Amino acid sequence: SIPLGYFAGIGSLSKHGVLAKGGNYLEVLKNLDTIIFDKTGTLTEGVFEVVKVQPTEEFSPEELLEIAAYAESYSNHPIADSIKKKYNKKIEKELIEEYEEISGHGIKAKINGKIILVGNKKLMNKFNIKAPDIEFHGTIVFVAVNGNFAGYIGISDKIKANVADAIRKLKELGVKHTIMLTGDSEKVAESVAKEIGIDKYYAELLPEDKVKFFEKFNSGISTAFVGDGINDAPVLTRADVGIAMGGLGSDAAIEAADVIIMDDDISKISDAIKISRKTLKITW
Ligand code: ADP
Ligand code: MG
Repeated sequence: SIPLGYFAGIGSLSKHGVLAKGGNYLEVLKNLDTIIFDKTGTLTEGVFEVVKVQPTEEFSPEELLEIAAYAESYSNHPIADSIKKKYNKKIEKELIEEYEEISGHGIKAKINGKIILVGNKKLMNKFNIKAPDIEFHGTIVFVAVNGNFAGYIGISDKIKANVADAIRKLKELGVKHTIMLTGDSEKVAESVAKEIGIDKYYAELLPEDKVKFFEKFNSGISTAFVGDGINDAPVLTRADVGIAMGGLGSDAAIEAADVIIMDDDISKISDAIKISRKTLKITW
């Protein structure tokens, strides 16, 4: 039989904008030891803005932006949206001859007869493109045309306003470990982790690296994974409790998750822990 407290707990959570798919997740929340966060869209707004367009001498900034916008035309990634927003012109989709989104890397496309790569350093390495090291405080999107580096686009994303506070509250509630996983660069990861008080971070991870990390890590302790779900669904299903953002989150994430935070506010996790402890009559 299902303990009565579970129903009360689920009801109370939903009043706080937190949907739990079963009462058993209250047990996990109650004793949460470790919380692993995805970065983009979870700890940051996930709303990227192009702040720099830096071509090599072969291209103008307008051309570089156009090339990138065309390559990104079929992608729903927040990075792709920011590039298309900055370009802000109609894309003639018939010019896109081939298109491939390489998860955790970026885009490879054939556009108007040219092979275009748009993505991170890993993508450049994968296709043996010599790309320079760049000093930029944010996410760098490299662009290559026909096998040669063509320039980069600098993109910034903001940390959500109340995240540092939310992390502090979780620690006060007895959460022992806070960890951030990201596909983004080491530099960006380090500055975000520092600013918000996350204990540990792992950067430049592919979606499958996140799964591997999780399988190795998740042994016996009570662990939550919190993500917006772009590429995160496999990890969400593996956590003791998978928590997804309901607003920004993808449909796949909401389906894979056990608990959904409707307004994407991660301070709701501490509310959920408190509610689980109250309804399961544990005093701390
Ligand atoms: P995160 O772990 O930060 O949520 P993702 O796994 O979605 O990030 O992507 C990891 C990295 O791969 C991004 O930071 C970006 O460098 C690159 N990337 C992924 N998709 C795209 C894309 N459509 N265009 C450009 N770069 C991309
Ligand atoms: Mg993500």
